[in-house]
Amino acid sequence: MKEKKQNKKPIMYYYFVTLIIVMLLNSYVFPSILNRKITEVDYGTFLTEVEKGNVTKVEIDDNQIAFKTKDTEDKEKIYITGAMNDPGLTERLHESGVSFSRVIPKEASPITRFITTWIIPMLIFAMLGQLLSRSLAKRMGGGNALSFGKSNAKIYVEAQTGKTFKDVAGQDEAKEALTEIVDFLHNPKKYEAIGATLPKGALLVGPPGTGKTLLAKAVAGEAKVPFFSISGSEFVEMFVGMGAAKVRDLFKQAQEKAPCIVFIDEIDTIGKKRDNGGISGNDEREQTLNQLLTEMDGFDGKKGVVILAATNRPESLDKALLRPGRFDRRVPVELPDLPGREAILKVHAKNIKTADDIDYNAIARATSGASGADLANIINEAALRAVRLGRTIVYQSDLEESVEVVIAGYQRKNAVISEKEKKIIAYHEIGHALVAAKQSDSAPVHKITIIPRTSGALGYTMQVEEEERFLLSKEMLLNKITTYTGGRAAEALIFNSITSGASNDIEQATKLARAMITRLGMSSSFGMTALETVSNQYLGGDASLACSPETSRRIDEEVMAIINSSYEKAYKILEDNIHKLHELSEYLLQKETITGEEFMQILNESPLQLEE
Ligand code: ADP
Ligand code: MG
Ligand code: ZN
Repeated sequence: MKEKKQNKKPIMYYYFVTLIIVMLLNSYVFPSILNRKITEVDYGTFLTEVEKGNVTKVEIDDNQIAFKTKDTEDKEKIYITGAMNDPGLTERLHESGVSFSRVIPKEASPITRFITTWIIPMLIFAMLGQLLSRSLAKRMGGGNALSFGKSNAKIYVEAQTGKTFKDVAGQDEAKEALTEIVDFLHNPKKYEAIGATLPKGALLVGPPGTGKTLLAKAVAGEAKVPFFSISGSEFVEMFVGMGAAKVRDLFKQAQEKAPCIVFIDEIDTIGKKRDNGGISGNDEREQTLNQLLTEMDGFDGKKGVVILAATNRPESLDKALLRPGRFDRRVPVELPDLPGREAILKVHAKNIKTADDIDYNAIARATSGASGADLANIINEAALRAVRLGRTIVYQSDLEESVEVVIAGYQRKNAVISEKEKKIIAYHEIGHALVAAKQSDSAPVHKITIIPRTSGALGYTMQVEEEERFLLSKEMLLNKITTYTGGRAAEALIFNSITSGASNDIEQATKLARAMITRLGMSSSFGMTALETVSNQYLGGDASLACSPETSRRIDEEVMAIINSSYEKAYKILEDNIHKLHELSEYLLQKETITGEEFMQILNESPLQLEE
């Protein structure tokens, strides 16, 4: 206590207040309680009462005599008087048949009184004060800033995460797998009785933003157990040189709090494959990983500590982490499908005020490939837009616009684009749309726009599938490539010159064509040979060639062949429909944005009607 100067003052105040309280108690409350039953009388009165035979009981002390009388209604009432040198007293008492002894009535002793009214309360208050100030000092950091080995781990214990499975929309398979863990945390005895050991750890695997962290929190919320959460990068960045100590600490704390959940987010940062890469070996990280492996083996799985971890790079994890007894259970958390997206949109829309007639299905269909985080973002963008437009509720149009904001960025309203360029852009976009519409098996056109976006897109054609597709046929893929080439084909056909506007189309078309040949086995000359391997499938899916230079050259040739023939096809389609191409492009140029319905209507009108 001595070294804590700043704590002294409040404690002094505290004692002072206590003193005042005790004094007040003593002068007003205690006397009336204690003295109510004790009345002081003179010795003569005592003698008279004894002679009258009224006294029933006497207790004699060195200094005073306490007695009770018959005629007091209150049997508890005690009289006291000072003791006199009266040798005959005992005789007389005996004669009148009074029971008497030499015991001090407890209430009456001034020493006892002093102790009970002054010392004990003071002691109690002093003890309380000590306790209080000590816990205060501990909370302020304990002063041990430089305690090596025992890390001051910033470990979050959230007794209640506040999330439940209700907050996680879709992801039914993942939830089902985790329900068992929740049940185990609720009732470990059930599993113990049959001798089953539950998996010590489950690994949530999936692309970013799909709700892995959310799911882990929901498990804790459902099980109503403490939730220790730490992210892998914290181990590495914040606790340089103490990673291993921190892991030890974490597990120690967890075992004290069992049943509980330990959640290690982004585990790939510490769980990367150990390699024997000589000089550049990362000792620190390996020690942390080794400690983690040891701890996972060390603790008793029956106690109810469940370890959850999340990663989007499962292939980079050390094999030792994945063997039975460690993270032996893998829970895939994939990008949401159509019903999943709709459910996620609805969950997040609960937090905002919307019109009654929102068509979430339409939004979900337009967002294939979006993650849960993207969808949450779309809802929020829609709400922001509604506020910007001075409204108090969100309309369908807000949601539709915010889908485009998330996909392509904000509109660049004041971008200056010359009439000539605008015209090229309009023909380019109608080229895509027309080629798509004139082929079977391609997604319907939803919207065409030539309003530029902050992402750099000068315009785009949005196609939305009627329903989710899980399989893509070779024809569909070829049609897609043809649609990509439609923009450039229109430019060439109408203006006889080509622009840089097709760069993104070219990239997409080439990627698809390559995948068809190297991974999907859709080329006649290579058949079902895998010519590429994909690393980190959840983070963009970089592919690396796994074939000889000779084969690689042939792949390039095939890719070129596919794209060239697709281009020819698109060119032909546009040539055959050149009147519609002109008509639609003019219309788009005027309106800047047209819907799929408007597009289809103009496309399906017979030329005859138009001439009327
Ligand atoms: P991850 O950890 O997989 O990268 P998060 O769990 O951090 O993703 O998710 C980010 C946010 O996205 C969540 O806070 C939530 O708002 C939203 N989200 C993601 N998936 C879902 C889902 N299935 N249901 C509801 N919201 C979701
Ligand atoms: Mg996360
Ligand atoms: Zn294009």
